[in-house]
Parts: sequence; structure tokens; C-alpha cells
Amino acid sequence: MTSTADYKALEAKYYMQVVNRRPMVLVRAEGTRVWDNDDKSYLDFTAGWAVLNIGHSHPAVVEAVREQAGLINQMSNLFYTTPQLKLAQILVDNSCMDRVFFCNSGAEANEGVSKLARKWGKTKLNGAHQIITMNNSFHGRTFGMMAATGQAAYQENWVPLMPGFVNVDFNDIEAIKAATSDQTCAVMVEPVQGEGGVNVPDDGYLRQVQDWCNANNLVFIVDEVQTGMGRLGTMFGYQSYDVEPDAMTLAKALGSGAPLGAFMCKEEFSVLEPGDHGSTFGGNALTTASGAAAAEVIVEENIPAQAAKTGEYLTGKLIALKEKYDFITDVRGPGLLIGIEMTSEIAPAVVTEVEANGLLMNAIRPTILRLMPPLNVSREEIDEAVDILDAALGKIGS
Ligand SMILES: *Cc1c(COP(=O)(O)O)cnc(C)c1O
Repeated sequence: MTSTADYKALEAKYYMQVVNRRPMVLVRAEGTRVWDNDDKSYLDFTAGWAVLNIGHSHPAVVEAVREQAGLINQMSNLFYTTPQLKLAQILVDNSCMDRVFFCNSGAEANEGVSKLARKWGKTKLNGAHQIITMNNSFHGRTFGMMAATGQAAYQENWVPLMPGFVNVDFNDIEAIKAATSDQTCAVMVEPVQGEGGVNVPDDGYLRQVQDWCNANNLVFIVDEVQTGMGRLGTMFGYQSYDVEPDAMTLAKALGSGAPLGAFMCKEEFSVLEPGDHGSTFGGNALTTASGAAAAEVIVEENIPAQAAKTGEYLTGKLIALKEKYDFITDVRGPGLLIGIEMTSEIAPAVVTEVEANGLLMNAIRPTILRLMPPLNVSREEIDEAVDILDAALGKIGS
């Protein structure tokens, strides 16, 4: 049998060294749990990077993928295939959007919506082409999205960046107003900044962004790649903040493990025409069968409401830890996208310690832990995870 050390050696030899991997080799998963090649189990509070919103290997998803794989996987968008249409209908019926285009990732979804915004500017705003995005945002790693992502670490090695994106501070409507010119066609914002450290918008901020976009005929775009499909306790994150964007992007949880992204817009903003955009794999029968099966479960079992309730339960327990450990300064985030901020840079050590005791978590910054378990995580699993975290904080924090 190949050992963990052998697998690590293979990775070190053959794979581009772009990520510092965690030390385990994972071979199977079910619900909130994953198992490594030595059959040790872990509670997965990373959910495959906020992807497994209804848990790993949900039976409805497994069955849909199995069935579809035996029917037809891929044809291209030259032809009609049915799972794509089923998922399109669920997304439109449950959002303020009217139309969807499927692609394969979050970055691609944001690229697509940026093309839509530029065409809007070209045809309705005398050629305006600039999109305002936020500092500490995360929109993906393509050339366009590196310029959209307002973080030096994702930009500085790849200058010159693609022109047409202006980064301003999050939670600052005056900064958006000051950056707006006759060259502006859109504003793109995450309802809650995920990768940027679980940064929650101030009351009224997203409404101010919407009002400013409406008043100036700009496309109001929300990047729901991380917040969509129930994570914040509503089907889409914007619904938690009582706003109505003109366009939005989805990926991560959309495919429930299949690589699937989407961008959506209201009818008024549906300016893309035949030939303007496309994708070989985008919306193929296999990925959308997975996505449609997951979306059906999310709607029928009202998973967003479960996330809201479970999120309150988990947050309550984390606030108790904050009271116990004075080095914890903040516990934040709606639903089941939760950040824990600490005074010193112990997040990576905490992650290593909880892993040893069977819990996967993410250190999104040296001082910030991020928790994003499946939305149907049980209270017993939360109790178990918080006990492991409590022990790690006690050991490392003192
Ligand atoms: C992860 C993420 C992306 C990028 O998605 P990929 O599928 O990795 O390209 C874009 N926006 C947000 C908000 C994300 O969290």
C-alpha cells in the first residue's frame, strides 16, 4: 500500500508547488466527515472550500451524477440538454434574476459578468468600461479577476494588470461615489467578503451601493460565489441584506462538487447576444445534473433556514469561547460563514492542532480562523468541533 509519505513525495516531485498542502491524503467523504488513507476521520469545517453546502456525497447528488453519466455528459451548447434547463429554472425561480449562463468556475463567472457589464457600458453608457470593485475582495485568479481582486498579494507579481478595474475600500459608499466617472459601467461587491477575512457589510451599505448604481445606470453586481446557495442563511447572500442586484455570479456550492459556475442578470441587463460569449464545458449535462439535484435539496429542505438556525447555535458557542479566551477579539459572520479574529498570529498553529484531533478548519489570515461547515451539519457535530477547537485554543493561546 502506498503510504502518506509516498504520496507527499509524488506531489513534491510532479505537481506545481503553488499551495502549501495540509498533511493528510483524503480518500472518501460523507456528510460533514472525510477520511484519510489511514482511515482516520475528520469533521470538515472547510466543506471542500464552501462547496459542499449539503455535505459530501449527498445521496441525491450521487444518484443524479450516476444516472446522468450513463445517459449523456457533454454535447456543447449548440444543442439543448435537460439538466441545464432544470437548474436554470430553479435559480431564476428563487432569485430576482431572469436569465442565467453556466460556466465552470467562480473566476469564469466573474469574467462573464464583467463582459456583460462592459457591453452594458458600450451600448448604454457611451462606451463606459470601468468596473468598481473592493479592496480585500476576492473574485478569482484569471487576468481580469486579478485586477478586480483588491489585494496586493494577488496582483503584484503579475503587473501590468488588465485595465478597467478600480479598487476602493469596502463599506465606504463615499469611496464608490468618488471613483465613479463617465467611464464607470458597474460596481461589483461580495455581500460578505469571504476570502478577505469574513468582512461583514455595515447596516445599509449594500442598499447605498444599489441606490448609487440605480441612480447612475450602473450594473449592480454581487459576487455570490461563496455566499450563494444558502451559506448566509438565505438562498442568496443579497437576500440577507434586503437588496436587489442587477446581476450576480455563483460557483462553489452551485455544483455540489462538480465544477460549475454561473452568472445571472435581470432581463433589462441581458445585453449579451449570439456570439458574444460561450464555453465548451459550461453547463454541460453532468455538472448541471449535479447542481440541479443539489439545488432541489436546498430549496425543498429549506437548507438556508437550517443554516441560519445552525449558524446561530455555532456562533453562540464561539462567543462563549470569546468570553473564555481574551485573545479572541471578534466572532463574526451571518449563517455558516464565520470568522474568528485573534490578537496574535496563532491561526495556523490552531489549525494544525485541531487537525491532529480530527477537525478541518481554515486559517484565512494569520490572525483569523474561518469556519464554513456544510449547511446541514448536525448540532452533535458542532458540539464535537467546538470541543476540539476549545482544547486547541486553550493549549496554543496560553
Ligand atoms: C472562490 C471565489 C471566487 C473564485 O472562484 P474559483 O472557482 O476558484 O475561480 C470568486 N469569488 C469569490 C467570492 C470566491 O469566494
